[in-house]
Amino acid sequence: MSEEPDSINCPNCGKNVPWTRASRYRPFCSQRCQLIDLGEWAAENYRVPGEAGPAPEKPDSESLQ
Ligand SMILES: [Zn+2]
Repeated sequence: MSEEPDSINCPNCGKNVPWTRASRYRPFCSQRCQLIDLGEWAAENYRVPGEAGPAPEKPDSESLQ
Protein backbone atom coordinates (compact mmCIF):
# COMPACT_ATOMS: atom_id res chain seq x y z
CA MET A 1 0.00 0.00 0.00
CA SER A 2 3.02 2.19 0.43
CA GLU A 3 3.68 4.66 -2.37
CA GLU A 4 7.05 5.67 -1.06
CA PRO A 5 9.84 5.09 -3.55
CA ASP A 6 12.49 2.51 -2.78
CA SER A 7 15.09 4.92 -3.99
CA ILE A 8 15.56 8.31 -5.60
CA ASN A 9 18.21 10.00 -7.65
CA CYS A 10 20.41 12.67 -6.15
CA PRO A 11 19.31 16.05 -7.59
CA ASN A 12 22.92 17.12 -7.77
CA CYS A 13 24.82 14.20 -9.29
CA GLY A 14 22.08 11.77 -10.20
CA LYS A 15 23.39 8.99 -8.03
CA ASN A 16 20.84 6.46 -6.88
CA VAL A 17 20.02 6.95 -3.21
CA PRO A 18 18.11 4.42 -1.12
CA TRP A 19 15.05 6.05 0.38
CA THR A 20 15.64 5.00 3.95
CA ARG A 21 16.11 6.67 7.27
CA ALA A 22 19.77 5.81 6.95
CA SER A 23 20.01 8.20 4.01
CA ARG A 24 20.12 11.25 6.19
CA TYR A 25 20.97 13.59 3.33
CA ARG A 26 18.17 12.52 1.06
CA PRO A 27 17.18 13.43 -1.50
CA PHE A 28 20.89 13.99 -1.88
CA CYS A 29 23.36 11.12 -1.89
CA SER A 30 25.68 12.81 0.54
CA GLN A 31 26.25 15.86 2.66
CA ARG A 32 28.55 17.18 -0.03
CA CYS A 33 25.85 17.15 -2.67
CA GLN A 34 23.47 18.73 -0.21
CA LEU A 35 25.91 21.53 0.48
CA ILE A 36 26.59 22.04 -3.20
CA ASP A 37 22.90 22.45 -3.79
CA LEU A 38 22.67 24.92 -0.97
CA GLY A 39 25.57 26.86 -2.38
CA GLU A 40 27.52 26.63 0.82
CA TRP A 41 30.14 24.29 -0.51
CA ALA A 42 31.20 26.74 -3.19
CA ALA A 43 31.53 29.43 -0.57
CA GLU A 44 34.21 27.29 1.08
CA ASN A 45 33.11 28.66 4.41
CA TYR A 46 31.56 25.49 5.56
CA ARG A 47 33.46 23.07 7.72
CA VAL A 48 32.23 19.56 8.08
CA PRO A 49 32.01 18.89 11.79
CA GLY A 50 34.38 16.22 12.93
CA GLU A 51 34.34 14.19 16.08
CA ALA A 52 35.22 17.24 18.08
CA GLY A 53 32.75 19.97 18.78
CA PRO A 54 29.02 19.93 19.16
CA ALA A 55 26.94 18.30 16.46
CA PRO A 56 23.38 19.49 16.82
CA GLU A 57 21.08 16.93 15.38
CA LYS A 58 17.36 16.55 15.35
CA PRO A 59 16.59 12.87 14.89
CA ASP A 60 12.90 13.54 15.00
CA SER A 61 13.08 15.80 11.96
CA GLU A 62 13.90 12.87 9.71
CA SER A 63 10.62 11.16 10.33
CA LEU A 64 8.75 14.30 9.31
CA GLN A 65 10.14 14.34 5.80
ZN1 LIG B 1 24.90 13.37 -5.19
